[in-house]
Amino acid sequence: MGLDYARRPMPADDAIRHYLMDMDGVLVHEETMVPGADRWLEELRATGIPFLLLTNNSIYTPRDLQARLRLTGLDVPAEAIWTSALATARFLDSQRPGGTAYVVGEAGLTTALHDVGYILSEREPDYVVLGETRTYSFESITRAIRLVAGGARFIATNPDATGPSPFGVTPATGSVAALISRATGVAPYFVGKPNPLMMRSALRAIDAHSESTAMIGDRMDTDVIAGLEAGLRTILVLTGITARDEADRFPYRPTRVVGSVADLVGQAGDPFAADRATG
Ligand SMILES: [Mg+2]
Repeated sequence: MGLDYARRPMPADDAIRHYLMDMDGVLVHEETMVPGADRWLEELRATGIPFLLLTNNSIYTPRDLQARLRLTGLDVPAEAIWTSALATARFLDSQRPGGTAYVVGEAGLTTALHDVGYILSEREPDYVVLGETRTYSFESITRAIRLVAGGARFIATNPDATGPSPFGVTPATGSVAALISRATGVAPYFVGKPNPLMMRSALRAIDAHSESTAMIGDRMDTDVIAGLEAGLRTILVLTGITARDEADRFPYRPTRVVGSVADLVGQAGDPFAADRATG
């Protein structure tokens, strides 16, 4: 007897049991809290729904980010923060345990690699790992280029071409990766969003399942597509980079669009109920 998919009952339980959330543009704008983000996190705590904050920023350790969030008025444990640096370290640990890497980056990345037992080395490393820093040096980029040209595998924490700063955009990992690629003819493997690898490692970190997890983000081309491709339901907030009419131009859509996470307060366990009711 074959499987009869058409007769399979719809799952009675459509609840959301875990959340993955982007940080910038969703909970904070640089150094200020998005209004209502504190009430939303409070509701998740009160209802006992675990969450993980996801950021492509590889400069900081989770504890650094925890301190920065606290300055905006948001209280989040360091264990609830997942960075592209952590995802990169976990990826390398799974691919080549106990390997060696030449790192261009900050403490967020070097700490994560040390924590999985990697040795940082400038001599014939298994990998060149590029992350974000505010002090890219010509010397370290030159060394990275020579090592990649000499056969080291090229990994980058995230593909973002630019990042925000209080004074305007700054070149980010993706732009510096392009420089190294141009010089070597070698393209990097990017671990951060929108690579579904980042989502899967985050799901594993909180023991969550894709069917009962929602991803909240402010970017269609990273947060929403990454959530979608990892099998999550997605919520686009309009407090960040994307305006409602811009979201319509993409060939894929989020499960739900809300003005802000404040609109989700009171709906943490079932944020898609309203959509089902209106068809
Ligand atoms: Mg964002």
